[in-house]
Amino acid sequence: MFALFEKRESKTENKIKMDKSIKELWEKMSLRFQSHPWHGVNIGENAPNEVMSFIEMTPSDTVKYEVDKDSGFMMVDRPQKFSNIMPALYGFVPQTYCAEEVAEYCMEKTGRDGIVGDSDPLDICVLSERDINQGNILVPAIPIGGFRMIDGGEADDKIVAILKGDNVYGQWNDISECPEALIQRLKHYFLTYKNVPGDGKKVEVEITHTYGKAEAIEVIKRSYSDYKRHFGIIDETVITY
Ligand SMILES: [Mg+2]
Repeated sequence: MFALFEKRESKTENKIKMDKSIKELWEKMSLRFQSHPWHGVNIGENAPNEVMSFIEMTPSDTVKYEVDKDSGFMMVDRPQKFSNIMPALYGFVPQTYCAEEVAEYCMEKTGRDGIVGDSDPLDICVLSERDINQGNILVPAIPIGGFRMIDGGEADDKIVAILKGDNVYGQWNDISECPEALIQRLKHYFLTYKNVPGDGKKVEVEITHTYGKAEAIEVIKRSYSDYKRHFGIIDETVITY
């Protein structure tokens, strides 16, 4: 009986030793390899009130860039065909995913049925008073609101945020404090960038609501929860004690 107990104890000790060596190896590997911007970058210690954002597009880009979901490298999605200009820094929040819980919230707020998540990380627009002309960068951002966008039956929320520490926009706490012209410009971009003049096709994109900070925080929480359920948080998977 005692022998069995000791055997069990040493098994546990071995497990802890193994977990510690895996943790050390994991930490060393993290220093040697660049993280995947979607899976390997932390959402941020103070999320959802402050989130890390990975920027794919800037207002000066004439080509649509996005992260290749498999490799994590930036790739050219397509050249912009027309005169649309992205009105703000645009990208996504790492470790988020728009699936069941995001779709559920969209249905609850719109009273509609049959909405699904767009199976992408949560999109974010970051307002910066200073020009930032480089994509493929991480930007700390403070969410102030968002747009409830539905694209072909898929929830495709756009969070609106300000650059952390921005000297001019930093005073805004909620999207209701932004000038209406700025909100209209952002909405116009998302509602029209897929349009092809003269082809007669109706693009099924709509924005049902512009919402404030509280709803933006709820969408971020849900997208993080959707991510954890679908992908897991890798540090928590590797380090089990
Ligand atoms: Mg999306």
